[in-house]
Amino acid sequence: MSEIIKTEAVVLSKLNYGDTSSIVTLYSKDFGKFSAIIKGGRSPKSKIGLIIEPLNYIQVIVYIKESRELQFISGSDMISYFPGIREDFDKLKYSQAVIELLKKLTAEHEINVRLFKGVVRIISLIESSNELPVILFSRFLFFFLTELGYGLQLDKCPICGRTNLGATELSYNYEFGIFCGDCKKNHLETGAVTPELFNYLLCLKTSKKIEANRVGTAETAITFMEKHLIYHVPDFKGIQTLRILK
Ligand SMILES: [Zn+2]
Repeated sequence: MSEIIKTEAVVLSKLNYGDTSSIVTLYSKDFGKFSAIIKGGRSPKSKIGLIIEPLNYIQVIVYIKESRELQFISGSDMISYFPGIREDFDKLKYSQAVIELLKKLTAEHEINVRLFKGVVRIISLIESSNELPVILFSRFLFFFLTELGYGLQLDKCPICGRTNLGATELSYNYEFGIFCGDCKKNHLETGAVTPELFNYLLCLKTSKKIEANRVGTAETAITFMEKHLIYHVPDFKGIQTLRILK
Protein backbone atom coordinates (compact mmCIF):
# COMPACT_ATOMS: atom_id res chain seq x y z
CA MET A 1 0.00 0.00 0.00
CA SER A 2 1.26 3.47 -0.73
CA GLU A 3 -0.03 6.97 -0.11
CA ILE A 4 0.98 10.58 -0.41
CA ILE A 5 1.02 12.55 2.83
CA LYS A 6 1.71 16.15 3.72
CA THR A 7 3.24 16.52 7.18
CA GLU A 8 5.34 18.76 9.37
CA ALA A 9 8.80 17.46 10.26
CA VAL A 10 12.10 18.28 11.93
CA VAL A 11 15.21 17.26 10.00
CA LEU A 12 17.46 14.92 12.00
CA SER A 13 20.26 14.20 9.54
CA LYS A 14 21.42 14.44 5.96
CA LEU A 15 24.02 12.34 4.15
CA ASN A 16 25.42 12.39 0.64
CA TYR A 17 24.32 9.52 -1.55
CA GLY A 18 25.93 8.76 -4.90
CA ASP A 19 27.15 11.76 -6.88
CA THR A 20 24.09 13.94 -6.74
CA SER A 21 21.57 12.67 -4.21
CA SER A 22 21.05 12.89 -0.44
CA ILE A 23 19.55 10.60 2.14
CA VAL A 24 17.75 12.40 4.94
CA THR A 25 16.11 11.30 8.17
CA LEU A 26 13.13 13.25 9.45
CA TYR A 27 11.03 13.15 12.59
CA SER A 28 7.50 13.89 11.43
CA LYS A 29 4.18 14.61 13.06
CA ASP A 30 2.10 12.16 11.04
CA PHE A 31 4.52 9.37 10.13
CA GLY A 32 7.05 9.37 12.99
CA LYS A 33 10.71 8.94 12.09
CA PHE A 34 11.58 7.96 8.53
CA SER A 35 14.37 8.19 5.99
CA ALA A 36 14.01 9.39 2.44
CA ILE A 37 16.05 9.90 -0.66
CA ILE A 38 16.21 13.24 -2.42
CA LYS A 39 17.29 12.57 -5.99
CA GLY A 40 19.48 15.36 -7.30
CA GLY A 41 19.23 16.93 -3.84
CA ARG A 42 22.79 18.27 -3.88
CA SER A 43 22.25 20.46 -6.90
CA PRO A 44 22.03 24.15 -5.96
CA LYS A 45 18.88 24.18 -8.07
CA SER A 46 17.13 21.65 -5.84
CA LYS A 47 14.73 23.58 -3.63
CA ILE A 48 13.99 20.44 -1.61
CA GLY A 49 17.71 19.84 -1.11
CA LEU A 50 18.24 23.38 0.15
CA ILE A 51 15.36 23.31 2.60
CA ILE A 52 16.04 19.90 4.09
CA GLU A 53 19.00 20.65 6.36
CA PRO A 54 19.48 19.29 9.90
CA LEU A 55 17.41 21.06 12.57
CA ASN A 56 15.11 22.81 10.08
CA TYR A 57 11.40 22.69 10.84
CA ILE A 58 9.66 22.06 7.55
CA GLN A 59 6.58 20.85 5.78
CA VAL A 60 7.04 17.97 3.36
CA ILE A 61 5.04 16.01 0.85
CA VAL A 62 6.11 12.38 1.01
CA TYR A 63 5.25 9.42 -1.16
CA ILE A 64 5.04 6.70 1.47
CA LYS A 65 5.31 2.98 1.06
CA GLU A 66 5.84 1.41 4.47
CA SER A 67 7.57 -1.70 3.11
CA ARG A 68 10.22 0.49 1.50
CA GLU A 69 13.28 1.52 3.48
CA LEU A 70 13.63 4.92 1.80
CA GLN A 71 10.64 7.11 1.02
CA PHE A 72 10.44 9.75 -1.72
CA ILE A 73 9.99 13.42 -0.96
CA SER A 74 8.24 15.32 -3.71
CA GLY A 75 7.96 18.77 -2.13
CA SER A 76 8.97 20.83 0.87
CA ASP A 77 8.47 24.25 2.45
CA MET A 78 10.40 25.92 5.26
CA ILE A 79 8.56 26.72 8.49
CA SER A 80 11.65 27.82 10.46
CA TYR A 81 15.40 27.37 10.20
CA PHE A 82 16.13 28.83 13.67
CA PRO A 83 18.80 31.41 12.81
CA GLY A 84 19.33 32.33 16.50
CA ILE A 85 20.36 28.77 17.36
CA ARG A 86 22.98 28.62 14.61
CA GLU A 87 24.80 31.66 15.99
CA ASP A 88 25.03 30.51 19.60
CA PHE A 89 27.22 27.60 20.72
CA ASP A 90 25.13 26.60 23.74
CA LYS A 91 21.85 26.82 21.86
CA LEU A 92 23.27 24.70 19.06
CA LYS A 93 24.71 22.14 21.46
CA TYR A 94 21.45 21.51 23.30
CA SER A 95 19.34 21.55 20.11
CA GLN A 96 21.64 18.91 18.67
CA ALA A 97 21.25 16.88 21.86
CA VAL A 98 17.46 16.92 21.27
CA ILE A 99 18.05 15.77 17.67
CA GLU A 100 20.40 13.01 18.87
CA LEU A 101 17.80 11.66 21.32
CA LEU A 102 15.21 11.48 18.54
CA LYS A 103 17.64 9.81 16.17
CA LYS A 104 18.71 7.17 18.66
CA LEU A 105 15.64 6.51 20.77
CA THR A 106 12.54 6.80 18.63
CA ALA A 107 11.29 3.90 16.53
CA GLU A 108 10.78 4.14 12.76
CA HIS A 109 7.22 5.01 11.72
CA GLU A 110 6.03 5.28 15.33
CA ILE A 111 3.69 8.26 15.51
CA ASN A 112 3.69 10.39 18.68
CA VAL A 113 2.07 13.77 18.06
CA ARG A 114 2.64 14.94 21.64
CA LEU A 115 6.37 14.21 21.40
CA PHE A 116 6.53 15.92 18.02
CA LYS A 117 4.87 19.05 19.42
CA GLY A 118 7.19 18.93 22.45
CA VAL A 119 10.22 18.82 20.13
CA VAL A 120 9.06 21.80 18.07
CA ARG A 121 8.23 23.68 21.26
CA ILE A 122 11.60 23.09 22.91
CA ILE A 123 13.60 24.00 19.79
CA SER A 124 11.51 27.15 19.39
CA LEU A 125 12.15 28.02 23.06
CA ILE A 126 15.89 27.40 22.70
CA GLU A 127 15.74 29.79 19.72
CA SER A 128 13.84 32.59 21.38
CA SER A 129 13.33 32.22 25.15
CA ASN A 130 15.43 33.97 27.77
CA GLU A 131 15.74 30.77 29.78
CA LEU A 132 19.17 29.16 29.47
CA PRO A 133 19.51 26.32 26.92
CA VAL A 134 20.81 23.90 29.58
CA ILE A 135 17.68 24.46 31.71
CA LEU A 136 15.40 24.15 28.68
CA PHE A 137 17.13 20.91 27.72
CA SER A 138 16.63 19.49 31.23
CA ARG A 139 12.91 20.26 30.84
CA PHE A 140 12.84 18.42 27.52
CA LEU A 141 14.73 15.42 28.89
CA PHE A 142 12.25 15.01 31.76
CA PHE A 143 9.35 15.12 29.27
CA PHE A 144 11.15 12.78 26.87
CA LEU A 145 11.71 10.14 29.58
CA THR A 146 7.99 10.19 30.32
CA GLU A 147 7.07 9.91 26.64
CA LEU A 148 9.38 6.92 26.26
CA GLY A 149 7.79 5.20 29.25
CA TYR A 150 10.73 5.66 31.62
CA GLY A 151 9.37 8.64 33.53
CA LEU A 152 10.62 9.36 37.04
CA GLN A 153 8.09 8.90 39.81
CA LEU A 154 8.32 11.77 42.30
CA ASP A 155 5.03 11.70 44.18
CA LYS A 156 5.55 8.55 46.23
CA CYS A 157 8.10 5.92 47.19
CA PRO A 158 7.74 3.07 44.64
CA ILE A 159 8.52 0.47 47.35
CA CYS A 160 6.46 1.45 50.43
CA GLY A 161 4.11 4.01 48.87
CA ARG A 162 5.04 6.82 51.26
CA THR A 163 4.15 10.26 49.90
CA ASN A 164 5.67 13.71 50.53
CA LEU A 165 9.13 12.50 49.52
CA GLY A 166 10.64 15.98 49.71
CA ALA A 167 10.60 15.72 53.51
CA THR A 168 12.81 12.60 53.71
CA GLU A 169 16.30 11.46 52.85
CA LEU A 170 16.16 9.92 49.34
CA SER A 171 17.99 7.20 47.44
CA TYR A 172 17.98 5.94 43.89
CA ASN A 173 18.52 2.65 42.17
CA TYR A 174 17.91 1.59 38.58
CA GLU A 175 15.25 -0.93 39.42
CA PHE A 176 12.94 1.26 41.53
CA GLY A 177 13.93 4.81 40.71
CA ILE A 178 13.78 7.28 43.61
CA PHE A 179 12.85 5.73 46.98
CA CYS A 180 12.64 6.81 50.60
CA GLY A 181 15.15 6.59 53.48
CA ASP A 182 13.21 3.86 55.30
CA CYS A 183 13.37 1.57 52.28
CA LYS A 184 17.10 2.17 52.01
CA LYS A 185 17.60 -0.23 54.94
CA ASN A 186 16.39 -3.15 52.82
CA HIS A 187 17.36 -2.10 49.30
CA LEU A 188 20.63 -1.29 47.59
CA GLU A 189 21.08 2.26 46.42
CA THR A 190 23.08 3.33 43.37
CA GLY A 191 23.34 6.80 44.83
CA ALA A 192 21.72 9.37 47.07
CA VAL A 193 19.33 11.99 45.72
CA THR A 194 20.06 15.35 47.34
CA PRO A 195 17.14 17.61 48.34
CA GLU A 196 18.42 20.10 45.76
CA LEU A 197 18.25 17.56 42.92
CA PHE A 198 14.85 16.29 44.04
CA ASN A 199 13.49 19.81 44.24
CA TYR A 200 14.84 20.57 40.77
CA LEU A 201 13.19 17.45 39.31
CA LEU A 202 9.91 18.55 40.92
CA CYS A 203 10.25 21.94 39.17
CA LEU A 204 10.66 20.08 35.86
CA LYS A 205 7.60 17.99 36.55
CA THR A 206 5.41 20.95 37.41
CA SER A 207 6.97 23.28 34.79
CA LYS A 208 7.89 25.80 37.49
CA LYS A 209 10.17 28.73 36.86
CA ILE A 210 13.85 27.92 37.42
CA GLU A 211 16.41 30.59 38.30
CA ALA A 212 19.44 31.01 36.05
CA ASN A 213 21.81 30.42 38.99
CA ARG A 214 20.78 26.75 39.09
CA VAL A 215 22.88 25.73 36.08
CA GLY A 216 24.96 23.34 38.22
CA THR A 217 21.83 21.54 39.41
CA ALA A 218 20.49 21.48 35.84
CA GLU A 219 23.65 19.68 34.73
CA THR A 220 23.41 17.23 37.64
CA ALA A 221 19.77 16.55 36.75
CA ILE A 222 20.66 15.94 33.09
CA THR A 223 23.39 13.46 34.08
CA PHE A 224 20.98 11.76 36.49
CA MET A 225 18.25 11.36 33.85
CA GLU A 226 20.79 10.29 31.23
CA LYS A 227 22.02 7.45 33.48
CA HIS A 228 18.43 6.39 34.10
CA LEU A 229 17.94 6.17 30.32
CA ILE A 230 21.22 4.31 29.75
CA TYR A 231 20.14 1.69 32.25
CA HIS A 232 16.69 1.20 30.75
CA VAL A 233 17.49 1.34 27.03
CA PRO A 234 19.77 -1.42 25.70
CA ASP A 235 22.53 -0.12 23.41
CA PHE A 236 22.06 3.51 24.44
CA LYS A 237 25.40 4.80 25.66
CA GLY A 238 24.51 8.36 26.58
CA ILE A 239 24.14 11.68 24.80
CA GLN A 240 27.35 11.99 22.78
CA THR A 241 26.65 15.59 21.72
CA LEU A 242 27.09 16.73 25.32
CA ARG A 243 30.51 15.07 25.47
CA ILE A 244 31.79 16.24 22.11
CA LEU A 245 30.59 19.85 22.33
CA LYS A 246 31.82 20.96 25.74
ZN1 LIG B 1 9.81 3.74 50.93
